[in-house]
Amino acid sequence: MSGKNEEPTSYLLHRHATYIPPRVIASSGCWLELEDGRKVFDGSSGAAVACLGHGNDQVKEAINRQLDEVAYIHSGFFESSACTGFAKELVLSTNGKMAQAFLISSGSEAMEAAIKLAIQYFVEITSPGHYSQRKRFIARRQSYHGTTLGALSMGGHKGRRKIYERILMDNFSHVSPCNPYRGLRQGESVEAYIERLAKELDDEFRRVGPNTVAAFVAEPIVGAALGFVPAVPGYFKAMKEVCDKHGALLIFDEVMVGMGRSGTLHAWEQEGVVPDIQTIGKGLGGGYIPISGILIGHRVSNALSKGTGQFAHGQTYQSHAIACAGGLAVQQIIRKENLVANVSEMGNLMVRLLKERLQSHPYVGDIRGKGLAWAIEFVQDKQSKEPFKPELKVAERIHRKALEGPDPIALYHGSGTADGDKGDHIMISPPFIITEEEVEFVVKATANAIEEFFDEYF
Ligand code: PLP
Repeated sequence: MSGKNEEPTSYLLHRHATYIPPRVIASSGCWLELEDGRKVFDGSSGAAVACLGHGNDQVKEAINRQLDEVAYIHSGFFESSACTGFAKELVLSTNGKMAQAFLISSGSEAMEAAIKLAIQYFVEITSPGHYSQRKRFIARRQSYHGTTLGALSMGGHKGRRKIYERILMDNFSHVSPCNPYRGLRQGESVEAYIERLAKELDDEFRRVGPNTVAAFVAEPIVGAALGFVPAVPGYFKAMKEVCDKHGALLIFDEVMVGMGRSGTLHAWEQEGVVPDIQTIGKGLGGGYIPISGILIGHRVSNALSKGTGQFAHGQTYQSHAIACAGGLAVQQIIRKENLVANVSEMGNLMVRLLKERLQSHPYVGDIRGKGLAWAIEFVQDKQSKEPFKPELKVAERIHRKALEGPDPIALYHGSGTADGDKGDHIMISPPFIITEEEVEFVVKATANAIEEFFDEYF
């Protein structure tokens, strides 16, 4: 090894240490303007975050007003009208299904809070002097729940776990995701598929000891790890029955697809299943400020108030006044402007156009999603669903092609879709304010990039 230091490419350690991404100098609505003058459509809202698009004046004003009132107070000593108002807005949005909200900064932190709250719930309901054995969580393979060690241990994303595998927590285990494109066997009915997955979950409870499991955790629509894969209708009802049978909690991770992106404000509204704890983030503050949270169901909230009366999990920036003011403004705009209806309407148009244009493409295996959360999975053989070799970096190169093409568009890309190691997808999750004309642009720009990429390389 030479003693000479490798000069870093930038003072800022970027997400990809050797690649400096293009610089954004202005933004408005669904568009970003780059230093070199190009205008790029924010086709995935960053990482499904910028639900209101960019430069919303009402959000800016709400944040400024809060800055004038107070920026930060310690949540143990004081409260702000922004944080109580935001909690009320969120709880009321569940039509009485949830009792309370806890507000922090990132999706990973929300998952950590959910893990600890589930553990505390069982401590609260265990008689004094006894010890709750429930310390295990059952999650799903090919899931993503965040980057901190608890959330990473919970997630089943092979690529993101890999380097840290040796230090991940051993009280998390994983069952199959519900992914009909790859999971449904030939000739198997949806009902039989659900039954098989419910049995697998039930078997996992029995394997680890039913009384040791605190919760089953799932994303209602799998985001980063699979590329917007919704479960088949009826799946979550069956999973909840298994949880109920064994006395475990149900946690929904709605960090990516919650707060309207699925076509209803909460994705669980379409499942007819209410979780005991729900995590939210990303679109919660639309990217104007970092904010995330957990919504807490009555069962858990009651246990806390009847027990120790406090959540043993305090953070410096919880209920941050500016973050709450920004988040509240975003959610009020979504409600008042009925943007969730636009998500459904524009989503229906988008999937129709995507399918018209791309379904018969020889390397497009699957187009799936809900609301304004759509993904395209690429395969080298449509019949066998054989994925491309990972070293070809198909999704990443399609992303670059789309960004650098004549109609520049930024699309989230992912790998490991097929088996955790192999498989490529891109995700299209534009802002909720998207217009019909912009949907047409998104489909055209995305399809052109995909077609040109495969024409050039294969
Ligand atoms: N949960 C889900 C479903 C996510 O998609 C993500 C991020 O992509 C997280 C949790 C973690 O959120 P964050 O990156 O804000 O920590």
